[in-house]
Amino acid sequence: MVNYKDLGLVNTREMFAKAVDGGYAIPAFNFNNMEQLQAIIKACAETKSPVILQVSSGARKYANQTLLRYMAEGAVEYAKELGWEHPQICLHLDHGDTFELCKSCVDFGFSSVMIDGSSLPYEENIALTKKVVDYAHQYDVTVEAELGVLAGVEDDVVAEESHYTKPEEVIDFATRTGCDSLAISIGTSHGAYKFKPEQCTRDPKTGKLVPPPLAFDVLEEVEKRLPGFPIVLHGSSSVPQEYVDIINSHGGNLPDAVGIPEDQLRKAAKSAVCKINIDSDSRLAFTAAVRKVLAEKPGEFDPRKYCGPARDEMTKLYKHKIIEVLGSDGKAL
Ligand SMILES: [Zn+2]
Repeated sequence: MVNYKDLGLVNTREMFAKAVDGGYAIPAFNFNNMEQLQAIIKACAETKSPVILQVSSGARKYANQTLLRYMAEGAVEYAKELGWEHPQICLHLDHGDTFELCKSCVDFGFSSVMIDGSSLPYEENIALTKKVVDYAHQYDVTVEAELGVLAGVEDDVVAEESHYTKPEEVIDFATRTGCDSLAISIGTSHGAYKFKPEQCTRDPKTGKLVPPPLAFDVLEEVEKRLPGFPIVLHGSSSVPQEYVDIINSHGGNLPDAVGIPEDQLRKAAKSAVCKINIDSDSRLAFTAAVRKVLAEKPGEFDPRKYCGPARDEMTKLYKHKIIEVLGSDGKAL
């Protein structure tokens, strides 16, 4: 048994309380390799932004859960080296699907876990979530739950159709489970293809796809019923067109990739939404930078020469999200 407090990590309780009061959102960035983690920590240290480092099931398979946990521990020390005196870093399990997995993360030093019972019938989701909450809270580990189904593909999370969260269920769910935050479905979606072209309109000037707006009415109904309760948005990458263009003009093929416009996320961050998950955008930044270097310098074979620029591009992206979209800069001095 390792307690996260001994690793210098924090849970989400205070982060979220401050974010709800302050009208901003905490970035939740997924990581599965060293360059990505370096970029996240550098961006957060330079902007003094609290951060949630997320480990998904795909990341655990790719990089090994033990190694990722030690990397997060190292990240705290790295942050201090960069001059961030009091780093506020949370290590979070993304989309935990069983009690056993959540327990193993709690026992192993994670400071927060998500139990995703959203695909289960309502009562089973409550029972599973409550079991995880009862265990995690003994160690002051915070728990994120999910109500409603997001469309899209993220690692093993695959859903064809989305079902918006039913606001009439949230009070009962939050009360009976005791969860610390709630992921809801209001039209965000996992992956780089969040919407099919037929769900979008086309900008007559640029010919680019314009996605349907998020269901802010559902969010408002949830907020009304659970005032001040921390709400989470998954699948909130914007799929920046400049990265898609670089990828496509350097041998890639991502036709009609489309994400959530940043002005909508900005609006959400000012509300009770206090955790916004961003993963695909950093994958796009990484891939665009690597493709560019390899296309321009075909003789290059030192991974540091293309992973380095990829890391710089991700750092730029994370800082942009923190300062321009989430408003979390300067909140962890
Ligand atoms: Zn997710």
